[in-house]
Amino acid sequence: MTQTDLLIVGAGPVGLFTVFEAGLLKLRCHLIDTLPQPGGQCREIYPKKPIYDIPGFPSILAGDLIDNLLEQIAPFKPGFTLGERAERIQKTADGQFLLTTNRGTEIQAPVIVIAGGLGCFEPRKPPIENLARFDDTGVEHIIKDP
Ligand SMILES: Cc1cc2nc3c(=O)[nH]c(=O)nc-3n(C[C@H](O)[C@H](O)[C@H](O)COP(=O)(O)OP(=O)(O)OC[C@H]3O[C@@H](n4cnc5c(N)ncnc54)[C@H](O)[C@@H]3O)c2cc1C
Repeated sequence: MTQTDLLIVGAGPVGLFTVFEAGLLKLRCHLIDTLPQPGGQCREIYPKKPIYDIPGFPSILAGDLIDNLLEQIAPFKPGFTLGERAERIQKTADGQFLLTTNRGTEIQAPVIVIAGGLGCFEPRKPPIENLARFDDTGVEHIIKDP
């Protein structure tokens, strides 16, 4: 079981910058995201789209923004649990929170931040019989740039 100071559900831009702010307060962070990589909507849906409303950047590609955020938080050495969905939160006897994922991973922290954006991203899978049989066997579901 992983123990951390601050557990963040959602590794989108909000979750990533939370690591920076918490790091300034000397809090260790662990992020969990159902996606296989950090970056939320910016990385998963539109990494090549320019965004124009980031302070200090007249224009920046969404994917580059995520790269910058990851570089910015690297000194604080956050932990990541990726490709797993946060499913259950229980209060422990000593007043902490125990979060369990859909894969049974347990992470404990006195504080949980929910930075879940619009919710879990999950692939819309094709209607193929017994598709679940191929999960975790090398089959990847991706959104492809046109
Ligand atoms: C096509 C498009 C273009 C956009 N263009 C712009 C723009 O130009 N400028 C702008 O400012 N904004 C833009 N946005 C909006 C912007 O992407 C969002 O406001 C931003 O991503 C929100 O960040 P977030 O970290 O709150 O949430 P998200 O980016 O949604 O990240 C949340 C993360 O939480 C994870 N999560 C949620 N629930 C769970 C759970 N139970 N367990 C594990 N993981 C979980 C999700 O998988 C996700 O990765 C655009 C959005 C889209 C779709």
